[in-house]
Amino acid sequence: MQALFSLELPELKNLLKSKGFSAYVGEQIFQWVYKHLVFDPAAWTNVRQSLRVEIKQWLDLAVPRIIKEQVSTDQTRKFLLEFSDGETVEAVLIPRHGRLAVCLSSQVGCAFGCRFCHTATQGLKRNLTAAEIVGQYLVVQQHILQVDPTWTITNIVFMGQGEPLHNFSAVKKAILILMDNHGIGLGQRRITVSTCGFIAGIKKLNDFPPVNIAISLHAARDEIRNQLMPVNHAQGLGGLWQAIKEIPLKAHRRITYEYLLIKDLNDTPADIAALASCLDPGQAKINLIPFNEHPAAQFARPSAEKVAWFQEELMKRNFVCTIRPSMGSDILAACGQLKSAVKENKL
Ligand code: SAH
Repeated sequence: MQALFSLELPELKNLLKSKGFSAYVGEQIFQWVYKHLVFDPAAWTNVRQSLRVEIKQWLDLAVPRIIKEQVSTDQTRKFLLEFSDGETVEAVLIPRHGRLAVCLSSQVGCAFGCRFCHTATQGLKRNLTAAEIVGQYLVVQQHILQVDPTWTITNIVFMGQGEPLHNFSAVKKAILILMDNHGIGLGQRRITVSTCGFIAGIKKLNDFPPVNIAISLHAARDEIRNQLMPVNHAQGLGGLWQAIKEIPLKAHRRITYEYLLIKDLNDTPADIAALASCLDPGQAKINLIPFNEHPAAQFARPSAEKVAWFQEELMKRNFVCTIRPSMGSDILAACGQLKSAVKENKL
């Protein structure tokens, strides 16, 4: 059965027409589910009774189930979400500077095996559907409104479990649904897709909504990047730069490069020189992520002084360079710490 939350508005309208209803009802349904977060058709009072009953026969209206919530001392919240087949992912809600970002997962596990990442130890179980991606947003927003009725998610980052460009069509569809003005209407600048540098996916970005793109670079020298990220073996940094050049960027948009800082591995003067020679300060923004430790980690985080030095050196070379605070690390909700095996989370 098709899932309601996998349907873009024109698709829903076509389906309704084919079932003998007016296409306009599609807009009403979008308002009920995406603006009012009312998922039970019985409560869609301005929609015909026959449709309210029938729709369940042709559409799956399931949303993920929140099976665990952890609240960090910094107010970051991590949710363990379960889908109909029992698979689980994590989503993280991050309140900061008046914004409320939700970090969504795109796959159950991940295929790319980055050496520093906790999710990688899970391997790839399966792709999420567009409905499961949109559903994460819906249940987290609905839940948080019960905690505080003024809280509205302002930003979405695809930085949870999985490689979003490895599940291209479902992520693309989910973004189009989240952006539709008849529903949530999130602006393209409020959505960021982060990729490990999966070249086949980057090459398809000309057929993707023009959201912000972040590249998990982590090393600007092949010998280091090969050690950290198996995805680099195939085409190396040369292949990555080539693919990035083809990303259709609108004027003034910079690509963000995420750079994980690992003690004594990629935090040296040679790494700064390599970064400065690869990236153009006029186009690239660098976001430093001090390594977040997790149970399977073999790497360490550099000292705060080292991180500050690395940032200063890049700023001296005219780069816009920020340090990402590790939000929610006390509940393993920070970057690279997500792992959804239910057994482990229940311990
Ligand atoms: N697969 C995508 C989406 C995941 S984003 C990508 O790689 O971009 C999660 C971000 O956290 C990535 O930049 C990832 O490289 C980073 N990360 C992974 N493990 C980490 C860790 N232990 N500490 C800090 N950041 C980590």
